[in-house]
Amino acid sequence: MLHNSLYIHIPFCVRKCRYCDFNSIVSESKKIGRYLHAIEKELSVLNGRYVFNTVYIGGGTPSILTEVQLEKLLHSVIRYIPSSEIQEYTVEANPGTLTVNKIGLLKEYMVNRISLGVQSFQDSQLKYLGRIHSSNDAGNAFVSLRKAGFKNINVDLIFGSPEQSLDDWEKDLKTVVELGPDHISTYALTYEEGTSLTRDLEDASIHKLDEYVELEMYKTSIRYLTSNGYNHYEISNFAKYGYECAHNHAYWKNIGYVGIGAGAYSFIDGVRTSNEKDVFKYIDGINENKNVISFREKLELNQFASETVVMALRLRQGISNTDFYERFGYTIEDQFGEQMNRLAKYGLVSYENERLKLTEKGLFVADTVMTEFI
Ligand code: SF4
Repeated sequence: MLHNSLYIHIPFCVRKCRYCDFNSIVSESKKIGRYLHAIEKELSVLNGRYVFNTVYIGGGTPSILTEVQLEKLLHSVIRYIPSSEIQEYTVEANPGTLTVNKIGLLKEYMVNRISLGVQSFQDSQLKYLGRIHSSNDAGNAFVSLRKAGFKNINVDLIFGSPEQSLDDWEKDLKTVVELGPDHISTYALTYEEGTSLTRDLEDASIHKLDEYVELEMYKTSIRYLTSNGYNHYEISNFAKYGYECAHNHAYWKNIGYVGIGAGAYSFIDGVRTSNEKDVFKYIDGINENKNVISFREKLELNQFASETVVMALRLRQGISNTDFYERFGYTIEDQFGEQMNRLAKYGLVSYENERLKLTEKGLFVADTVMTEFI
């Protein structure tokens, strides 16, 4: 059986950013070494079971690894995953931990896409968000990646932080367009439970940015990036032609993917599983040859269909009824006819040429629209 996307999680960071609730910890190098050993073991079990067209090493901060550790990880991947099948091989990098030598290793081991966590080009914003790097670091990392021959680079940006103005955000957009990455992800800042930013919000030491300003920032991103040659192909993602992220399409299309590492999710044949989230329990479990799966759910057909519609609505092209019918054996209208009619009446979705998608109006209230399909 073929599954086309492999995700490998590296849950280590230099320090925790204020807004971050990802599964990542600050840890000493020796423990990272033990973790990489566990990753290799988990990868070895996959050997020959799947063919992967995309590989994505994310985090955390994969670029936190020392050169020796990074080489060990990259070597484990090519040892167990047939590289001839991999079309898109992404590694996430933080400008504060990426060095010329690490870039050289990524190139040597056939990584062909880098996702650079820049978040902002303004030092005051970076400081506010708790990032470890400066705007200069981000620019230098980008230039070094281009110099090394990387032709597919994503830049992640965050908008909507309490101390950011629309003018600040426009400057970030201008800077990123001048830099010219092939792909740009723009995420609205969210307040997740347990983060330092959320604690500050709860004790009223900070206040959320006005919703209207945040929406204007999003609209400005769409206007500015599309008028500068970036296709707005997913709610938060923009790409030059041919540079849409293939790996993330596995999530948006709700097709099979396999996750390796602490807390990583897999989705195979309608069954979702996730590994033990605690990094040290994960390492011990793997070393003791225990099953590290801590969560498992088999989706009912209608639940599977519902998730598929919600994820696909994130894509500007939406979802085709033909594809849906082939997967589920009935039409989108059979399950969601009522919702589709209601949302279409408000101008939030359209259903034309057998394709269901968000309208522009729907895009700005996407979360609310999607809850109708759950
Ligand atoms: S670098 Fe990324 S994963 Fe690490 S703390 Fe910051 S946002 Fe979270």
